[in-house]
Formats: sequence, structure tokens, C-alpha cells
Amino acid sequence: MDWQKGRQSDNVVQDDGSGGGGGFGGGGGGMRFGGFHLGIGGTIIVVIIALIFPQTRPLIMNLFLSGGGADSSQQAAAPAPGQRHAADANDPQVRFVSTILASTEDVWGPYFQSMGNQYERPKLVLFHGQTSSGCGAAQESMGPFYCPADHLVYLDLDFFKEMDTRFHASGDFARAYVIAHEVGHHVQNLLGVMQQVGRPTEGATGTSVRLELQADCFAGVWGNKSQAQLNWLQAGDIDSALNAASQVGDDTLQKESRGYAVPDSFTHGTSAQRSRWFKAGFQSGDIRSCDTFNAATL
Ligand SMILES: [Zn+2]
Repeated sequence: MDWQKGRQSDNVVQDDGSGGGGGFGGGGGGMRFGGFHLGIGGTIIVVIIALIFPQTRPLIMNLFLSGGGADSSQQAAAPAPGQRHAADANDPQVRFVSTILASTEDVWGPYFQSMGNQYERPKLVLFHGQTSSGCGAAQESMGPFYCPADHLVYLDLDFFKEMDTRFHASGDFARAYVIAHEVGHHVQNLLGVMQQVGRPTEGATGTSVRLELQADCFAGVWGNKSQAQLNWLQAGDIDSALNAASQVGDDTLQKESRGYAVPDSFTHGTSAQRSRWFKAGFQSGDIRSCDTFNAATL
């Protein structure tokens, strides 16, 4: 991936973890696209779900971890956010992240505009070890995530090393996929998908899996559009992203950690599903191919 071709974003910030600082508040309410339907029922059902599952604090939307990461005890102990400032543009990894984020801005901005909406560019918070988010405390072990409450993407750069070692998912485009997946959650948030889903349900066909597979598909849409804009992909790049999507599949991770997979506890979809939905988005370049909520088969 010839990522140096892209411009850099102004929206990457560094959390120095010192606590007591300002942090960035979220802004902007959700938006809805006219023709984009979830198909999980009407307003009544949504209201009932909201009543049954009062959402005190939005779940963290992460790359692979089940249960949303931060539990209530962690949230209670959440430290004040550290001081946040512009990230070091001399660091090649920061430049890489900044370039991918800029590309997501350049893809989703026009996309929203074409639908008559404005895209709110999310900030991406780089942290080290642990941080505090609008969704509670977070550690590196939770992987990269998006917090719907503060509209921020969170990433510990050490995760890229983990991708090489623990997840066997190397490559620039694999790393870019991870960022694009989290930005995909932001897009879902702006589209109103998250609000319609409410508290995601676990299981092989639950709404959590459908949300996550859609974020993978949105990452694929970004891949398609960014390639059209920058022509920056090289041989092997697509395979490396498909491999990354596969390596963070529920079945693969569960088999690695406990020897077998339990579909009832799936939150992100299987390896085959994750790479398939990324591919669907990548091939079409159109979010209408990402309707995981009405898909007959995931
Ligand atoms: Zn996710």
C-alpha cells in the first residue's frame, strides 16, 4: 500500500494519559439517510427495546472483543481523560494513521454530501496503555474502538504490533482496515443505525454481529473509494485486509482461546462472514450492499 500518496488529517490527537485534562466532547446528533432501512421493525419495537434495555452508557464498539469491553466497575473507576494535543507528525506510525483517517474523511464526506447530509469528521485519539472515553475506561487489550457517546475513535499504536504477532495479520492495508472499521461505526452512528439497534444482542444472527459485519462492509466501501481516489493499493493488499478481517472472527478467536466456538456468544461474526462483508463493500463501493440487517444469510 503506497499510503504516502495520501494527505494527512488534522484530527489525530494524542492522549498523554496524565489525567485532568480537557478532552474532546462529542458533537452533532445522528443523521438518517432516506433510503437506508434497518428493517428490524417499526418505531414501536424500538421504543419497547429501549424500555427493556435502558441504555445508561453506550457500549464501546470495538474490533473484536465481546461485551463491549468496559464493564460498569471499570466505568465507575474511569480516570479523567488525559491532556490531548496534536499527535507527533514526525512519527511514521502517526503519519500512517493520519493518512488513513484523512482518506476516510475524503471518502465519507462526499458520500454524505451526495445524500444531502454533512459528514462530521471524527477525531482519532491515540493512547498508550489506557485512556478514558465517553464510554468508560479503556485499555490497550480491548483493541481499537469507537465510542458512540463522544464520537471518537480510540487506538493504541501497540495494537499494530499485536496484529503482527497475536493476530497474524500484517500489512499496511490490514492496519488501515482496522481504522476504517472503527470509522465505519462512526458512520453507523451518524446514519442512525446504532440508535435504531439500541443495545446490541449477542448470537450468530444477533444485532451485534449485524452491526459489526456492517462496519466491516463500510470499511470495504472505504477501501473501494479510497483506491479510486488515490490508486494506492498494491499486490497483496486486499488479501492482507481480508486476512485481518478473518483473523478477528469470533469463531477463530474463540477456538484459539478455549478450543471451540460458541455461536450463541458471537458478537462480531465468523471469520468467513467478516472477510465476506468486507469484500462485499470493497467490490461494490456502495453502502447499499452493506444491509446486514435484511440479508437473508450473513
Ligand atoms: Zn466493531
